[in-house]
Amino acid sequence: MKKTFKKIALFTSGGDAPGMNAHIRAIVRTCIARGIEPIGIFNGYQGMIEGRFVSLNRKATVNLIDEGGTYLKTSRSEEFKTPEGREKAYQNLVKFEIDGVIACGGDGTLRGANLLYKEYGVNIVGTPGTIDNDLYGTYYTIGFDTASNTAAEAIDRIRDTADSHGRIFIIEVMGRHAGHIAMDVGISCGAELILVPEKASDIADLYATINRMGEHTRTIIIVGEGGQYEGAVDLATRLKINFNVDAKTTVLGHIQRGGSPTVRDRVLASHLGMAAVDSLLAGHSNVMVGRVYHNITHTPLPETWEKKKKIQNYLYQLAELL
Ligand code: ADP
Repeated sequence: MKKTFKKIALFTSGGDAPGMNAHIRAIVRTCIARGIEPIGIFNGYQGMIEGRFVSLNRKATVNLIDEGGTYLKTSRSEEFKTPEGREKAYQNLVKFEIDGVIACGGDGTLRGANLLYKEYGVNIVGTPGTIDNDLYGTYYTIGFDTASNTAAEAIDRIRDTADSHGRIFIIEVMGRHAGHIAMDVGISCGAELILVPEKASDIADLYATINRMGEHTRTIIIVGEGGQYEGAVDLATRLKINFNVDAKTTVLGHIQRGGSPTVRDRVLASHLGMAAVDSLLAGHSNVMVGRVYHNITHTPLPETWEKKKKIQNYLYQLAELL
């Protein structure tokens, strides 16, 4: 059933992702265009507990579209994981007369949103804001494209050195337990081996591939975090112990989180921002607003983490073939 909305609150939570600012800008401006007051909650769920609610206007979102990080800041709140913390958060939503909430973040953020809906009946929609691209119900998450491009640019530089010296480089990329960044970046950088957490690999097979490349040949190995090896250093150590292979290691780490978002991320973030407001107005709640092809989708929040977004088969084939 449709209801009247006077105030919509928005916040970013968990890991920051490039494009969150473009998303905030689109939500604020869509709210204003629809005659609704946008209320920013600073610092994610912790800010909701502490009552850090601020009325936003168009001016607050000027020059935000190309900025990395998040204007609303973010946090990881242990207090929100407790029933007492969520009660405080809910009381602030009541106090500030919030009619609907938009939560942008990863699966942790969406789990929290699901609890606000289940325990208090809060009108809430989630949006996918994470570089990991690990949420079911959307082809891409906000930040994934930028993070992949940042990693690819760094690896292109490392490849120059690897090539000049004919060395083996093992490069670890982010993704938590998902190999989407590793796979896309590995293919686009022409990596010789791509290891994703979704697929186990035998170390003897890895060695066979390295061996096939021949001595003093550039070999780039991409390892997604969260897999069978505890990152690049662990894999290098095992190759050394088992096969006396010398490999250099690089952990790209948080460099992948920051920076100005790509055009694809800015457009996705803007589209999902507008759609999130309009979804609340249309009566949607407890869903993630995502995009498949060019279409906006609504996926029940629990499905976004219970169902697994698979790496497409053609990507495995490409990784093998090329
Ligand atoms: P992300 O949203 O990027 O996955 P986190 O996993 O840190 O990042 O989640 C962000 C925040 O969401 C947490 O700090 C916590 O406040 C809240 N959260 C995460 N999981 C739960 C849960 N199971 N129950 C309640 N709140 C949660």
